[in-house]
Amino acid sequence: MKWSFQIGKLFTIPIRLHATFLLLLFFISIFGFRHAGISGAVFGMTSIVFIFFCVVLHEIGHSLMAIHYGIEVKDIVLMPIGGVSRMEEIPEDPRKEITISVVGPLVSFGLAFVFFLLTKMRGQSIAVGGLSLFNGNLIANLFWINLILGGFNLIPAFPMDGGRVLRGILSTTMDSLKATKIAVSVGQVFAILLFFFGIFFNWWMALIAIFIYLGAEGEERMVALRSTLGKSRVKMAMLTDVHTISPDQTMGEVLETVCHGLQQDFPVVEKGELVGLLTKEAIFSALHKHEKSALVREMMQRDFITTTEDAPLSDIFKKMTKEKLSVIPVMRGKKLQGMINLEQIGKYHLICQEGG
Ligand SMILES: [Zn+2]
Repeated sequence: MKWSFQIGKLFTIPIRLHATFLLLLFFISIFGFRHAGISGAVFGMTSIVFIFFCVVLHEIGHSLMAIHYGIEVKDIVLMPIGGVSRMEEIPEDPRKEITISVVGPLVSFGLAFVFFLLTKMRGQSIAVGGLSLFNGNLIANLFWINLILGGFNLIPAFPMDGGRVLRGILSTTMDSLKATKIAVSVGQVFAILLFFFGIFFNWWMALIAIFIYLGAEGEERMVALRSTLGKSRVKMAMLTDVHTISPDQTMGEVLETVCHGLQQDFPVVEKGELVGLLTKEAIFSALHKHEKSALVREMMQRDFITTTEDAPLSDIFKKMTKEKLSVIPVMRGKKLQGMINLEQIGKYHLICQEGG
């Protein structure tokens, strides 16, 4: 994720901090200082660090359960509005999604219980007169914050954990796209209500509402894409009108072709056989280094993957996004049939959806 950097690892999962999180620390310390001087600033920063450690544990709960099901977890990113476990894929099996989603809030409730015991052991009261980040009893505060964190996440509004649980439950009786659409609508209605509540009572809530709304929308798009691609083959979306180039052409000639056409990646064909791939990155890099006289042979990629017309489009889409491939040649035996790239997949998805 852009603007984030790794701060450590927990259970082999990289923990990354989004740069905006530092802004949050900065603002909290300013507010704390205005509220209660140096001690307020220090208390505010300490509170935030502890809260986010609890958020990390909540996310670790999701991640470990996902890993248990064989789903790869890329990392956990901490942002001012909370944490995200970035997983390779959403499990297709609704029961797995339900379990993965429920574990996070359970960790939060567990933490709340621990802080409850700690407060009681110290003979202190759990009651807080107005929860504050800048003063009071930090441990009692953490009890309340974890309780709220667990409870808030269980609200059945997508993309929060409760929304995923709702989608999982609905998915057992209908297809996942329909289930997602319902969970997304519930999430968006909730986000709108929260937004208006936030405007009047708490700006932070209004901000979270916007993220919930957008997150819900993004999820629906992802699932819709997966559902279209799941039924499709590469040949249904591939580019068939492909301009090929020869290894003996110069980069200057290729640039000329790029300027006058829409194609930006080229299969390199010699004696009717595919021998290389010239991607737009290689072309732009040649342009940048003023290597117009260089031959395609010197610049082309010789090591690349190919696919077939009958390969499932969803597999190719996954592979392209995961390995950041810009284009894959489509072959029938040794003969080039076309090319597939993310733009083509997107175009196919849109047209397909318009058609029904
Ligand atoms: Zn969660």
